[in-house]
Amino acid sequence: MSASNPQPAPAMQVPLLDLKLQYQPLKSEILAAIEKVCASQQFILGPATRELETNVAAYCQCRFGIGVSSGTDALLVALMALEIGAGDEVITTPYTFFATAGTIARTGARPAFCDIDPVTFNLSPAAVTAFIEGRCEMRDGKLVNRETGGVVKAIMPVHLYGQVADIGPIVQIARRYGLKVIEDAAQAIGAEDAQKRRACSFGDVGCLSFFPTKNLGAFGDAGMCVTNDPALAERIEVLRVHGGKPKYFHSYIGGNFRIDEIQAAVLNIKLRHLDAWSAARQRNARIYDDAFDKADLGKAVETPRALEGVRHIFNQYVIRARDRDLLRQHLMAAGVGTEIYYPVPLHLQECFAYLKHAKGDFPHAERAAEETLALPIFPELTEAQLRYVVDCIADFYRR
Ligand SMILES: *Cc1c(COP(=O)(O)O)cnc(C)c1O
Repeated sequence: MSASNPQPAPAMQVPLLDLKLQYQPLKSEILAAIEKVCASQQFILGPATRELETNVAAYCQCRFGIGVSSGTDALLVALMALEIGAGDEVITTPYTFFATAGTIARTGARPAFCDIDPVTFNLSPAAVTAFIEGRCEMRDGKLVNRETGGVVKAIMPVHLYGQVADIGPIVQIARRYGLKVIEDAAQAIGAEDAQKRRACSFGDVGCLSFFPTKNLGAFGDAGMCVTNDPALAERIEVLRVHGGKPKYFHSYIGGNFRIDEIQAAVLNIKLRHLDAWSAARQRNARIYDDAFDKADLGKAVETPRALEGVRHIFNQYVIRARDRDLLRQHLMAAGVGTEIYYPVPLHLQECFAYLKHAKGDFPHAERAAEETLALPIFPELTEAQLRYVVDCIADFYRR
């Protein structure tokens, strides 16, 4: 067999994410903070956790923060605190990370999916209204899904990729029908609407993830619930420790949803840099926008749209691309890391077959799953790397 044309080595490497570049300048400060926790041997719910709760709540324009074990657990404990369970339904988007609907189902409630807005990829208020007006009715002061008999209790919008959902109308609909609003802000800490109101401050409770790949990432798993409601904050705090208050006396069944003190210590240091990192992500997005503009690829690539006046924090920079899967292969060969968030919308996941959805139920979510591709956007990328990514994409379509 003769050697086939060897691929030339890529001119540049552009990983989807490289956290080492963020760690390097903070290394000594972070190690000192971890050492302090080790010296204290107080690993659970100590002073670093309290500091983080105060500062993250304030950052999100909320009064209370309750540090928890992950973003997933933040969603789960928020649902539990609102007493959502069997027989209930929660309206949400099918185009999101699995945890959004997974936690709803784990409480025993049913995810009631509504389609997304194709421009922002976020839950469409019009689709929510159509679902409520078309399929639900008020019975004894409760909103009931006529088809399933389930009681609709809440809406869980996701601020996907770092841009707040069209939250004004969603909160309005919720208030009109007596529904709670749980914001999945796992990708959106510090994102703002055009009135400078921050993610997590709109609904009853906001849920944050500090998974390492989020804009504010821990050295492992961590998350937080933030709220302006003192009673809800108290309930989440009790549920975080198995529902025991005082200790060993249980009025409700909670779980172990505690955050680690070491994670809180790391996050306290990183929080001070979050605005600078978000600004760098925005700068990178502008460089991409500009380079795509100049590349003039016609309809082959659609760049992400930040709505007028909002603060989009670009946890992801997600394009729609013609021949997405081939483009992804081409980029991989050129040394550029990408990811598909998310290849299968949740209503078509095997585990949700019992919801009896079919292809075609949520066409905007389905089309997004087929067309979107996330490009590297992390703060430390150089302009040369960003321009290289766009050059590689332009090469692909000019062939
Ligand atoms: C990351 C993420 C979660 C889950 O957070 P973890 O900390 O990984 O448990 C939930 N929802 C969305 C939209 C996410 O991106």
